[in-house]
Amino acid sequence: MKRRALASFLLAAFAVTGSDAATISRITNLYDAFGAPSDTLVKDWGFAALVEYDGKRILFDTGNHADTFERNVKALGVDLTRLDAVVISHRHGDHTSGLSYLLKVNPGVPIYVPQEGAFFKSGLPQDFLQRQPGLPVSLQYFEGKQPERWATGSPWEQANFRIVTKPTEILPGFHLLSTQSQKPGTVEMNELSLAIRTPRGLAVVVGCSHPGVEKILEHAARIDPQLYTVTGGFHLVRTPEPEIRRVGLLLRDTLKIERVAPAHCTSELGFAVLKEMFGARFDEAGLGATIPLPTR
Ligand SMILES: [Zn+2]
Ligand SMILES: [Zn+2]
Repeated sequence: MKRRALASFLLAAFAVTGSDAATISRITNLYDAFGAPSDTLVKDWGFAALVEYDGKRILFDTGNHADTFERNVKALGVDLTRLDAVVISHRHGDHTSGLSYLLKVNPGVPIYVPQEGAFFKSGLPQDFLQRQPGLPVSLQYFEGKQPERWATGSPWEQANFRIVTKPTEILPGFHLLSTQSQKPGTVEMNELSLAIRTPRGLAVVVGCSHPGVEKILEHAARIDPQLYTVTGGFHLVRTPEPEIRRVGLLLRDTLKIERVAPAHCTSELGFAVLKEMFGARFDEAGLGATIPLPTR
């Protein structure tokens, strides 16, 4: 009798946990330099977010410092051993530095990364090794033989990196978009963004938006023209107000996105302009904040 009571208690407990996991529909900011004052969370420049949706858990970026990432993750009660996937938006240190902590607790998790010439264990182009006839063997790469390894190294050698170069559905309803920056300072840098299908349209998570947040959302609209929300960095730091207004109007009136939840490198001026433009459709998305998503 006692054993049966215990069994039914465990079953009930499992059912609650199981249904809870399936019904949690939100994006939580784990790493940022702004947000509600907190005694437990540490603000720092950088970005990381946890997406919990349709029973899946996806970590997007890992912040600027492994110790701070660990501290915020623990303070928010996030279990990084239970992840379906990780997405790294781009190579910058304020998005990748927590990888060393992540790999300590979850070394095997698939990590989706953009293609980069000398990052993330990318393959090197074969034509790097064009041979020049007539050279002594001491001036020939690999003494004139085929190298055993022809990929770049990585500070995270043990990581299970998966390079993404085109739109890819990594889990049902979870799409990765690959866009390339043409902006001064980051020309040719590739960036991944995550688009999640919801009944009200796509919820898009961006890292720094170096290619332009409007360009990323235009790519997202090719998957589904109905856009629900966007969170992450819009990269409007040091951007003049007229340009911020142009981007804001494009999001609101051309792409007709329902809500915005700007974070990270959007800039304080960016927050102010977007808050004014979107009114009640603007969500504060700083460190520790959660953006609720419409359930499937
Ligand atoms: Zn950044
Ligand atoms: Zn960046």
